[in-house]
Amino acid sequence: MSTASSSSNSGISRSPSSAEASPRLLGNFPVRSFQVESSFEFQGFLLLCGLMLVTAFLTGIVFGLIHAFLWILLVAPIAVGILHGSVMLKFLHIFGVRDIGSIMTASVLAAIFSLTVAYAVEFFVSQNQLDSSLGPKAEIYWTVAQNYEAFTTRDDQSGPTSEAFAHLQSNPDLLERMQANTFPRYVAYAFDQPLQFHFGDGSSSISLGTIGSIVYRFSELLILAVIPIVMGITIRSRPYCNRCGTWKTAQMFGPFKSRRDVHETLKSGQLVALTYVEYPDSEDVFVEFYTCKRCHNQSPVDIITHPVDTKRAFAGKHELSRMTYPTEAYTPLHLACCVTQTSSESGIQRIRLQNGR
Ligand SMILES: [Zn+2]
Repeated sequence: MSTASSSSNSGISRSPSSAEASPRLLGNFPVRSFQVESSFEFQGFLLLCGLMLVTAFLTGIVFGLIHAFLWILLVAPIAVGILHGSVMLKFLHIFGVRDIGSIMTASVLAAIFSLTVAYAVEFFVSQNQLDSSLGPKAEIYWTVAQNYEAFTTRDDQSGPTSEAFAHLQSNPDLLERMQANTFPRYVAYAFDQPLQFHFGDGSSSISLGTIGSIVYRFSELLILAVIPIVMGITIRSRPYCNRCGTWKTAQMFGPFKSRRDVHETLKSGQLVALTYVEYPDSEDVFVEFYTCKRCHNQSPVDIITHPVDTKRAFAGKHELSRMTYPTEAYTPLHLACCVTQTSSESGIQRIRLQNGR
C-alpha cells in the first residue's frame, strides 16, 4: 500500500493511511457554526440613540414640510424609514453596536421623534398659513376663538370682535382649527380630521375617513420604526471581533476546485490545501475570511463561502455557508488558501489581487 513512498527511507515507519494519496494535513481544528454574540453596551447604546434622535429631528422637519403641503401615500414614510435605516447602519458600524435591544430602541425612538417633529412643523406651517390668510385681523380672530364661550353670552355685539365672532360662528371648521392653538391641541385636532389625498390639479380627492386616517397615521409610525430595525438586523450578522470590539474585515480567496470538496474540508476542520482553479465554473467556490485588523491571529476567523458568479468569474454575493475557526487556525487557513499555487509567487500574487471587493 505505502511501498512507493517508503521505499527510499526504509526503516522509518509512516502511518499506512491515505497520507500520500491526500494532500498534507495543515491541522485539525474544532469548527463552530457561525453565531452572533452580541451584548448590550451602554455607551454605544447612548451614542446610537442620541445620534438617531438628531437624524430624526432633521428628517422630521423635511417630513413635516411634506405633511403640511401634501400627503404622499406611504411613499414618504418608506423613504424616511430607509433613510433612518441607512444612517443607523453607519452608526452601528462606527460604534460596533449589534445588540438587538439597542437597535430596536433607537429605531422606535427615532420614528416617534421624527413624527413628533413632523407634526410640530405641520403645526407651525398651519399657524402661519392661518395668520397670513386672516391678515391684520388675525390677532382678533385668535382672541375670539380662544374665548368663544365668553363671546356667546356677551350682550355687546359690536366692534371688530363681533365681526370675527360672527365669522367663526358661521365657519365651525375654522373655529375648531383656531381653538387648537397649542401643539398638543393641534395633534388632537389633526387626529380627528380625516385625511384627504388630492390628485392632479386638486379637482379629485379621496378621504380616508376618521378610522382610516388613524390607521394610516399609525402605519406611518410602524413603517418608520420597522424598516431601520430590519436593516439593523442584517448588519448584525456581519462578522465582528468580540476581543477588541470592531467589525472584521473581509479577504476573498479562490476560486477553488469543487464546492463540495471545499465544504467537506472546511466543515471537517481537517485543513488541507484547497485546489486553486484558473477558470472557475459554477461548481467551484470562493472562500472569504473575516479577520480582525487589530487582533490578527488572536481572534477567531469567520469564514463565508460564496458561489462563482460565472459572468464576472468572481465571487457572487450569495452565501453558501458560514463557520468560525478558532484563533490557532489563522495561519493554517491562509496556508490552505495560498499554498496550492504550483507557480509559487505569481500564483499567490494573483489570488491576493482578487481580494478587494
Ligand atoms: Zn479584534
